[in-house]
Amino acid sequence: MTNYSKEDILSILNAKDSDILKYMNQTAQYRKDNLITYSKNVFIPLTEICRNDCGYCNFKKDPSDKEAIILKTKEEVLNELKIAEKYGCKEALFTFGEDADEEEVVLKRLNEFGYDNMVDYVVDICQMTLDETSLLPHSNGGNFSYEALEKLKEVNASMGLMLENSSKRLMELPTHNKSPGKNPELRLETITNAGKLKIPYTTGILIGIGETTEEIAESLFAIKEINDEYGHIQEIIIQNFTSTQDIEMCDWPEPSLLDMIRTVTAATLLFGDSDVSIQVPPNLNYDTAQVFLLCGADDWGGVSPLSQDYVNPTSPWPTLDMLDDLTADAGFELIERLCIYEKYINDEWLNDALLEKTLNLLKHQ
Ligand code: SF4
Repeated sequence: MTNYSKEDILSILNAKDSDILKYMNQTAQYRKDNLITYSKNVFIPLTEICRNDCGYCNFKKDPSDKEAIILKTKEEVLNELKIAEKYGCKEALFTFGEDADEEEVVLKRLNEFGYDNMVDYVVDICQMTLDETSLLPHSNGGNFSYEALEKLKEVNASMGLMLENSSKRLMELPTHNKSPGKNPELRLETITNAGKLKIPYTTGILIGIGETTEEIAESLFAIKEINDEYGHIQEIIIQNFTSTQDIEMCDWPEPSLLDMIRTVTAATLLFGDSDVSIQVPPNLNYDTAQVFLLCGADDWGGVSPLSQDYVNPTSPWPTLDMLDDLTADAGFELIERLCIYEKYINDEWLNDALLEKTLNLLKHQ
């Protein structure tokens, strides 16, 4: 079967007993090869300030927190990029809280640096990355207007924004009730605008944040509908909620291994004909990660040999040797990819400067 209805996907998401294995088996028909990809990156949080306050967040810090990164200077960023270059990283993952410049401390720092908004600063940071290092920028900083995306496109090889879930109901739960930027209409609009602008894009869903299986199915279909129109979704992350002591949702149960298996399987089958990778973060699931390869996942996402995962600071990334062994043990081969998938490396998706730089990196992979 290649055309899955919402009912089909719901059957997979609710599968029990041997039906689970039956659906897992069906994913094999979509596997083109035995390669599992990852992108060697450096994770650089430009600011830890964010206008939202999600119940599961481990990234955002309060502006009054003495430890908080208010805004990194260009010198600090360049220094980190140069170290990353020595480690052979090819992706500069710039993450920053949404509309951080709404916070006075951030705006003041931006003004000191000669800027009056975050987007222009990020554009210049990305341009510096392109001019002075061999890395490719990939920015992930929440919702952006069409105009902001237009500027960011010119200096990013790819960009990303998790949909998380398309249900507005989650705006009433601790999950998102203090996060106006998690309004799914806004997020779907950003993802759609990225498609209109031909930005190779990463998105995904977060499971275990209070959603129903029906809402997971709807979220996957919402992403599919946009990708069917614009074809810019290069990968879909299936991320599991992980509980830590310091978050508001510390008492919430984590999704089970079977919940993850069902969701990865459903996503693989739904996107089977679409040439979209299915990614599971290996650091959130290290002990169980191999099983996701058996239900269709074909990408581990960004893995850094030198920086921590600031979004999940209690879940260190495995070393690349560990990831290689883990992948091989399951019968697959680990290979490095760029933060932009090969099918987008052409002048339809990249401007001349980005295309030249990306082709050069590809040559030296
Ligand atoms: S999860 Fe992201 S959007 Fe939500 S508060 Fe944290 S940094 Fe902000």
